[in-house]
Amino acid sequence: MKSKIIGLGFLLAVGIGIIFAAGCISSDNPQETPVSSVTEHKTTYDYFMDEVVKISRPSGHLERINSYLHKFAEDHNLDCKEDAAGNILITRGKNPVVTLQGHQDMVLALADGKTFDYRTDDVKPYEKDGWLHADGTSLGADDGIGISVMLSALSSPEFKDTSIACLFTVDEETGCLGASVLSPDFLPGKYLINVDAEDIDTLLVSSAGSANLFAAYSVTSWNPAKNNDWFRVKISGGLGGHSGVNIDKGSANAIQTLVAIVNELPYQEISEFTGGVASNAIPTSASILVSVNPADADTFKARLSSLSDELKKEYANTDPDVIVTFEKTAAPAYAYPHAAAEQIITSVTSCVNGLIEKTEFGILTYSNIGTITSDEHEVTLRILPRASDNSTLKQVEKDIMSHFEKHGFTVKENGFAPAWGLSEEEPEFVQTILNTYQTVFRKRTELQGDSRRTRVWYHRLD
Ligand SMILES: [Zn+2]
Repeated sequence: MKSKIIGLGFLLAVGIGIIFAAGCISSDNPQETPVSSVTEHKTTYDYFMDEVVKISRPSGHLERINSYLHKFAEDHNLDCKEDAAGNILITRGKNPVVTLQGHQDMVLALADGKTFDYRTDDVKPYEKDGWLHADGTSLGADDGIGISVMLSALSSPEFKDTSIACLFTVDEETGCLGASVLSPDFLPGKYLINVDAEDIDTLLVSSAGSANLFAAYSVTSWNPAKNNDWFRVKISGGLGGHSGVNIDKGSANAIQTLVAIVNELPYQEISEFTGGVASNAIPTSASILVSVNPADADTFKARLSSLSDELKKEYANTDPDVIVTFEKTAAPAYAYPHAAAEQIITSVTSCVNGLIEKTEFGILTYSNIGTITSDEHEVTLRILPRASDNSTLKQVEKDIMSHFEKHGFTVKENGFAPAWGLSEEEPEFVQTILNTYQTVFRKRTELQGDSRRTRVWYHRLD
């Protein structure tokens, strides 16, 4: 499965690795990496390709990477400690001032039809056209490269006399769950550098905040009404992408677009509503079963065709491959009665979604309906509002919660990651990094993420 975003992540993390684990990557141009040839220790790339990439580590299932990190520390005779959440700190030397930090988990996405057991199966990387891919799964370069940067730094003989700490947090991808419960006492020193971004030659000094929302509508199990016709309506081919990158492109959110279409149809009941893969990914496909009174079937089909044509026109520039299809199907095992279906359809259709605020420096506030699932008991949505400042984030979160609660949903927040940014007390450290980069690479690094002057970083960072 190809991932350009993940591929880009690879570049940046290596870039950071060069600064702090100097010598870990070679270059055709010795001017740019003057220390690359003086050591032969295992590089960031070696650690990633030989070891870390293989270790499947979906959020919430980090047993394999946890064991690996403990063994690494033991093999290299390094101090290692773990807190109750599973965050691991490996330290070399006494009293380190700087801690590097990345996350243990990855988003494990599977290609259609791929069977994969994360407990035993390895991710298999391969290279094509200059990009790394994985066979039928996501690659996990986010944040496998960050992990590899830290392993390389910890094992580098060149810096054997330099104290350093490396923090491996858990479950960043599902809401910064490890970082959010981290005790300050767990960390040594004063400074922390996160190695989980993707622009090379760039120093980031902020991250937008986020709130993971779960909105559930409970339905009493209901047998489908007799004699209605059932259709599966599906939307697919959307542009999708990481919500933090693509949310301002104006592309279709498959879940919200699908309900907006159903809202215009003469439906009776609904069932088997699914769509999206992650809260921070714009859903590219979604499907739903709807029942129709046979007397309305012709109207239903004609209306659906014309809505499909309108959709193609509306998204011709942003989602050229988006398509709506429908097929007649057997009645499902369960159905939500019309009143419940109407609450679900209207609430999702009218929920604030997509880009909310943007400046010349980029996205400031947005929300993404990421996934929807249903069974005979309830429909559940995962929604991710994000903002560059915490009061805006709290307000958007509150608005979304009360919107769904008004329609009879129960809404829970599971994981609130506050926005963070450059504080006025720390410019010296930032200046040190900028100067060091200039010295090592003979080129400047760009400072990004100060919302007053530059774009805010919308990949969530611990
Ligand atoms: Zn990451």
